[in-house]
Amino acid sequence: MGEFIDLRDVKGEPSDKELDNQLRPLKFMDFAGQTKIIENIQVFVTAAIMRGESLDHVLLHGPPGLGKTTLSNIIANELGVKLKLTSGPVLDKPGDLAGLLTNLEKNDVLFIDEIHRLSPIVEEYLYSAMEDFRIDILIDKGPSARSIQLELNPFTLIGATTRSGLLTRPLRARFGITCHLEYYDIQVLTGIVKRSARILDVIISDDAAYEIARRSRGTPRIVNSLLRRVRDFAMVKGDGKIDLDITKYSLEALNIDRYGLDEMDNKILSTIIDKFKGGPVGISTIATAVGEDSGTIEEVYEPFLIKEGFIKRTPRGREVTDLAYTHLGRKNKGDANAMTLF
Ligand code: ADP
Repeated sequence: MGEFIDLRDVKGEPSDKELDNQLRPLKFMDFAGQTKIIENIQVFVTAAIMRGESLDHVLLHGPPGLGKTTLSNIIANELGVKLKLTSGPVLDKPGDLAGLLTNLEKNDVLFIDEIHRLSPIVEEYLYSAMEDFRIDILIDKGPSARSIQLELNPFTLIGATTRSGLLTRPLRARFGITCHLEYYDIQVLTGIVKRSARILDVIISDDAAYEIARRSRGTPRIVNSLLRRVRDFAMVKGDGKIDLDITKYSLEALNIDRYGLDEMDNKILSTIIDKFKGGPVGISTIATAVGEDSGTIEEVYEPFLIKEGFIKRTPRGREVTDLAYTHLGRKNKGDANAMTLF
């Protein structure tokens, strides 16, 4: 099959990927929300600059699209150093890692996305690199094989993961700064919609911005992609301005859930209701029933469902709330009992 070509690239207009980069904040002051984390990181960055040292290694964990890559970019920017990006699954040989590390300049930032997916052997190499800025590499094979030690420039490793539960203890212990990114509130997301609209040069009403934010699953990446799609509808079906009507029309056409839940969220809720009478039910049972890894459910899906009040944790397992029944248009257990009473 041929490679997918974005027509907008051909026509000289920015593609979604380019727009994504355009919308990415480059300074702490443009990074919305996560206030506590930002305040702390700003202190650590300033202190590192004052001492002329590399920033301590940083672990960023949290669900996808919440700004881990963006924050790493900002950190490198504010430190005034270069950022090299890679990811756990890509670094499958120690040689790949050694190549990256030896090319880092003093105090540079190395960003490893999905760091929980590093191979054990690469991870092992990372330990001495992180701790002593030194790596041992093996040269030659057979009887003449020997290991030599390479000194590295001091650097900062920023590891990002959606699954912190999968990190090994020794790796986790080597990060001096650990931050957990939370889902964003609607107010903060509304601010992100407005900022992105300004950058994209499109007029948006306050209620439309709020509506997009409300349906974005607490996630800036989703906010930006919904905004771009609504902008398309506004251009083609309207006068280019984004108001509440065209927003509702577009979100309806795109089949976006009223609360911003995605397919897996809804599957989890309907499974608990239909197969387990609303719960309580254990996380691994839910995972098997929906065909997803239980850690992913626990770290990626459940936090949002709990935050928005669709699920609650009880000592005997997970239970859906009335809101989940109403949202899916089902009768809840209480209603069923009430009906038999009358
Ligand atoms: P992650 O690495 O956690 O998957 P990203 O850093 O790639 O997420 O963020 C996805 C998009 O969301 C980015 O392109 C950026 O424009 C936007 N974004 C993320 N966090 C914020 C934020 N706090 N403020 C404004 N925009 C943000």
